[in-house]
Amino acid sequence: MTIGVLGGGQLGRMLAIAGLPLGLKFRFLDPSRDAVAGHAGKLICDDFNDPKHLDAFCAGLDVCTYEFENVPLDLARRVAERCPLRPGLEPLRRSQDRLLEKTLFTELGIPTPAFRPADSLASLTQAVAAVGYPCVVKTRRLGYDGKGQAVIRRPEDVPAAWTDLQRGAAADQPAALIVEAFVHFTRELSVIAARSTTGQTVIYPLNQNTHAGGILRTTLAPAPNTSAELIRRAHALITSLLDSLAYVGVLTVELFDTPDGLLANEMAPRVHNSGHWTIDAARTSQFQNHLRAILGWPLGPTDVSGGGHAAMINLIGAAPPVAEMLAIPHAAVHWYGKQPRAGRKTGHINLSAATAQDRDALLHATLQRVNAGTVMNA
Ligand code: AMP
Repeated sequence: MTIGVLGGGQLGRMLAIAGLPLGLKFRFLDPSRDAVAGHAGKLICDDFNDPKHLDAFCAGLDVCTYEFENVPLDLARRVAERCPLRPGLEPLRRSQDRLLEKTLFTELGIPTPAFRPADSLASLTQAVAAVGYPCVVKTRRLGYDGKGQAVIRRPEDVPAAWTDLQRGAAADQPAALIVEAFVHFTRELSVIAARSTTGQTVIYPLNQNTHAGGILRTTLAPAPNTSAELIRRAHALITSLLDSLAYVGVLTVELFDTPDGLLANEMAPRVHNSGHWTIDAARTSQFQNHLRAILGWPLGPTDVSGGGHAAMINLIGAAPPVAEMLAIPHAAVHWYGKQPRAGRKTGHINLSAATAQDRDALLHATLQRVNAGTVMNA
């Protein structure tokens, strides 16, 4: 069977690595000749906005999926006319626009930070006044890893935030914004689940994530100190999203844990960086469960193998040579074959141990070794 993937980055590459043992073949569509998924399948280079080779890409595909949420909707629509596209168009449409996404959360009764839309300096001023200080202004579309965001602490910050976030937008077509209450969270969590064409649903242990400069740095799984009630709420909210969207594939929801409960920040209709630990430490990786889900195959168990504790360290920008990282005890090294560049995710290291204490010690020692050999630049 052949799986098509829109996008050819590291997530596509890891999907292929997970699918090869199941006898699957992969075809990727990406504008870049250097797209690293091309190392693990056939790469068709094409312009996402004006594809010339769409028929060749779709010919004979059993199912098509996407590995990033900013696939142009028009392209996704044209693919869906040619072969099954899973997840479908609605999860893409919702996750491409922070306002539509948070509106969906609200419709489903999933708590979010207070939010208001804005599309002019005047409406931004009003929205900020309604949400209160401090608040975060984000572009509704095309923001990722903290890009396209500004924190507003007082009224004088509003004009500069407006100008800053309009950089690159045409004067007659201002970038639409969303203003969100600034959340004083105690920690960031994410929940990852897979739902199959049959409706079968599995949910991974919660992830606890740390970010710096808006980019994910580390993940711990299962997240420490989680009450049964917190897990129940996380499961309920992702299940309601999966069911309301008749979702097929892996879905991730990023959460803020606060003294007043969980707030949903955003969703990603795809495999997620905070689930990379599942490759080495879960009984079924998020990548394989995504493939099983979109093919309608039985989903696999999601718990940490042997009841243990896992961690993931993102390698950002430069990193020590692979051979050097392999000398780190217990490190499972994943290097994506990308050209290192400041702020670019170039690989990750997975760790696991029988107890949380041993896992934390491993994480600490590994971070020191990785940081000593290079600059983990933001
Ligand atoms: P995002 O692109 O929405 O995932 O935001 C990137 C990071 O910025 C998040 O992981 C948080 O660390 C931080 N952040 C985003 N939104 C808020 C908010 N409303 N309040 C506080 N921090 C936020």
